[in-house]
Amino acid sequence: GEWIYDIVLESSYGQLLDALAPVLKGRNEKNVKICIVTDSNVAKIHKNEVEEILKSGYSTVKTFVFESGEANKNLNTIEKLYEYLIINHFERNDLLIALGGGVVGDMTGFVAATYLRGIDFVQIPTTLLAQVDSSIGGKTGVDFAQYKNMVGAFNQPKLVYMNLDVLKTLPKEQFASGMAEALKSGLIRDQEYFIYLCDEIKAIQSLEQEAILRTVSGSCKIKREVVQNDPKEKGERALLNFGHTIGHAIEKLSDFTLYHGECVALGMVAAAYISFKSGNISKEDLEKIEHIISAYNLPIRLKTAKMSADDVLAATKSDKKMEDGRVKFVLLHAIGDAYISREVSDEMLSDGIRYVLQ
Ligand code: NAD
Ligand code: ZN
Repeated sequence: GEWIYDIVLESSYGQLLDALAPVLKGRNEKNVKICIVTDSNVAKIHKNEVEEILKSGYSTVKTFVFESGEANKNLNTIEKLYEYLIINHFERNDLLIALGGGVVGDMTGFVAATYLRGIDFVQIPTTLLAQVDSSIGGKTGVDFAQYKNMVGAFNQPKLVYMNLDVLKTLPKEQFASGMAEALKSGLIRDQEYFIYLCDEIKAIQSLEQEAILRTVSGSCKIKREVVQNDPKEKGERALLNFGHTIGHAIEKLSDFTLYHGECVALGMVAAAYISFKSGNISKEDLEKIEHIISAYNLPIRLKTAKMSADDVLAATKSDKKMEDGRVKFVLLHAIGDAYISREVSDEMLSDGIRYVLQ
């Protein structure tokens, strides 16, 4: 397909109005209303600056704030946002702006897909996870009951504007969580990028500008390519689920007390182990993968009495990414080269799960 929106990487919000101008071109700019959607943490730290800038260019800028956390990524929050938009007379020509992490982005995109049958939205991702992964590609939605991302829509933003500088205020564990997705990008698609992440651990973790730019842009490029080839996940896009099949099961069974990236890290180790066991990657590659995941302060083993391997297997198999009762599982031929397998047996899955549950 054709790529229809800009992904802008900056180190401030200074270019935001310029980047928005083409998005809003042709609308009556005096009357266009903008609703910033953000969570309680981001509201405290970054909302004012973005609000001020937008207010200097547009007359109506409203802000909807909800309590942060995955627990609020649900239809309840969506309803409140619909109400807020109705009360403030938002119309189809107006604009929503997601200012925050993946939780904000996923919900804003879903509301944008459904409010008045569709209103435009822009992503301003503020977590590493959202910058390297969730803000790009147009998957939006919410959790429903205990089911993660069960209700949603494909809906592409009109612009993604990233200010890499905001990563400085991100808690360390959240940074690590985002690195899991960056490592995933390298593992499935780009050995060179993976090696870069291995070589520059210190520079990346201390947020050196050049290193962060390369980390974010490298992962965005991979995500964009994969999504562009397969926007609706009919094939290749499923590669982005590397580490997520078992990862999601662990996430669910932890009652979301573990971070998404931590669960993905464990899922990637399990998938790498299965790749090794099924004669794909070498022992050295498996060790290399575990080593780098660990170096970015992510778990490679889960020590918990609360979760049995059988529970994780059952949860893995009940995941929505099944076809004819078989899990579509992403394995590695090599570092930087993933493929989708429908041949992974329950026994193999179980071995992978046991490998990380110790
Ligand atoms: P999040 O949005 O909950 O953000 C994590 C925490 O960081 C929150 O407490 C938030 O308030 C805080 N925060 C955000 N920016 C900050 C900043 N600059 N400084 C300080 N604190 C900040 O979680 P996330 O990790 O960004 O995203 C996870 C969500 O993304 C999950 O719901 C997951 O399902 C979804 N996701 C979606 C896709 C997709 O393709 N749509 C891909 C991957 C993940
Ligand atoms: Zn993920």
